[in-house]
Amino acid sequence: MSTETNPWEWSEDTWRGRVNHVRAGRALRPESWPGGARCAVALSFDVDHETNELRDGAQSIGRLSQGQYGNRQGVPRIMDLLRRHDIPASFYVPAVVAMLYPEEARAFVAEGHEVGIHGWIHERNSVLPEPVERDLQMRSADALEKITGARPVGIRTPSWDFSDATLAITRDMGLLYDSSLMADVDCYELHLAGENTGVVELPVEWIRDDAVYFNMARFAALRPYTPPEAVFDIFRREFDAAWAEGGLFQLTMHPHVTGYRSRIWILEALVEHIRAKGGAWFATHADIVRHAKAHAD
Ligand SMILES: [Zn+2]
Repeated sequence: MSTETNPWEWSEDTWRGRVNHVRAGRALRPESWPGGARCAVALSFDVDHETNELRDGAQSIGRLSQGQYGNRQGVPRIMDLLRRHDIPASFYVPAVVAMLYPEEARAFVAEGHEVGIHGWIHERNSVLPEPVERDLQMRSADALEKITGARPVGIRTPSWDFSDATLAITRDMGLLYDSSLMADVDCYELHLAGENTGVVELPVEWIRDDAVYFNMARFAALRPYTPPEAVFDIFRREFDAAWAEGGLFQLTMHPHVTGYRSRIWILEALVEHIRAKGGAWFATHADIVRHAKAHAD
């Protein structure tokens, strides 16, 4: 075993180099939000459907049917909710999902939502050779644009998995933002090896992701361990603190996780809570990033 594999034997250059490869730069916290709003609310939905199964090279008919539920029941329940409350949101769609369900992808854009990149087939970027990752990311943007008519300006990497090359590819594509990293509660500049890339991060967090609390795997020990009421409580506290701080509340959900009779109420109750509190600007990730970039102090 080479000493290079023992972290306690690394030179300072080695461990500093790893930490500094992709790093948060300046926080982009605007002095105010549009319309005098007190805080911003960024709702997002990762429309994985069948690709959660396909990306592992698997073909479980049962798991594929859960993916199809996302299209047949999950998305319609979410769209109905967003329509009734007149809320724009961001949908991150793997290219394969957009090709399986082009009408669904077009409906997102037609109803005023944003569609962003979410991989080709929900592949894990960190296991791909750089040229393959680059090709898939480019082709994903092209496929979404061809199907929806709208060129994506943002990316959420599948499973928030980032390779050493991901940020350079995103920068080279001229994308406005990424939404897969977790260094802050505000939008921030993304630096690559000490240089500002110009790409803005709109940060996510596993705490604000429905899948963390509700995922289950039949043949492994993974089971939902948090009751829906507790998930609502966590999300509400995240929002209340963002509101108190005048900041940004971002949430990641999945049609095949939240779009169920016993869970969709979490989002409904959260939206009602936010509306009752008042002063919240609901916007797509792209619009929030544009505002934060233009008005950061
Ligand atoms: Zn996903």
